[in-house]
Amino acid sequence: MLGAGCRRLLFALLVSVTATNFAGCMSVAGAEPVIEIVTTIPVLKDLAEQVGRSHVRVKSLLTGLENEHTYSPKPTDLIAVRKARLLFEIGLGLEVWVSSLVKNAGSPSLSVITTSRGVPLIHDDAEGDHDARPPDGVNAHRSGNPHIWMDPNNVEIMVRHIADALIAVDPAQAEDYRRNLAAYLEQVDKLRRELLERVSRLPDRRIVAHHPAWPYLAKRFGFEIAATIQIHAGAEPSALQVQQLIGKIKKERLKVIASEIQLSQRIPHLLAKETGATVVLLTTLPGGLPGTESYLDMLRYNVLKLAEALEN
Ligand SMILES: [Zn+2]
Repeated sequence: MLGAGCRRLLFALLVSVTATNFAGCMSVAGAEPVIEIVTTIPVLKDLAEQVGRSHVRVKSLLTGLENEHTYSPKPTDLIAVRKARLLFEIGLGLEVWVSSLVKNAGSPSLSVITTSRGVPLIHDDAEGDHDARPPDGVNAHRSGNPHIWMDPNNVEIMVRHIADALIAVDPAQAEDYRRNLAAYLEQVDKLRRELLERVSRLPDRRIVAHHPAWPYLAKRFGFEIAATIQIHAGAEPSALQVQQLIGKIKKERLKVIASEIQLSQRIPHLLAKETGATVVLLTTLPGGLPGTESYLDMLRYNVLKLAEALEN
């Protein structure tokens, strides 16, 4: 038999667990309900906040410093997913770790929104002559290159999915969400035009990419990916491939290596030392480098850094 103290404690525990479950969909901040949202990567957090503003509270599982392909969820991620009403992901096999997280959270009120729906995909193999197939599990780009957000046109599609999802769970604020969406799309358009104009003045737009994160950005802004260090995402090149890269960079006088803060800098620096090319450190996730806190800041940063390096 349980003592009275023990029973009271059990009751208090039950009440708090039930309260947490009810808070699952919407928690109340002041008078207005706030929609709890989890996103896999920071770019989706930024987009959700742009549309949701004061109606949402968003947590991104990745902060911007981790590698999005090799991330392994923390116990606090499970708690965040359990509390959330909406989860925004890219899909396309980018977040291979997210489905088990959602399953373990077991939250019946959670909607998972795949924001890559309807985005025209680029396949890595179409980019070059990579006939060697990688061993299973190495290539995270198999269902099409997942780095779709590097092209602002794709972000327009993604942010519309986010607005649709917010309107579906919170129709009372539909007007706000539509207004915020329209304002954001305008900002995207303005920056895209500005950056296109900047890149159009460059005589040489060829770059060496570290991992295949850049085809969407390259296609939109007219950069040419002349070589890629990691032909398959996650696979470091062999000594022979490094030698071939050095030969190619020298022969074709490639001047710029676009690396990423989320990856090891060893091989880009080795290539730079051997060839005299410059390594430009970029980020595929907002927050990866100072001055890249929002998606638009990151886009501006990456394109301007590339343009600057190509001009020197
Ligand atoms: Zn990748």
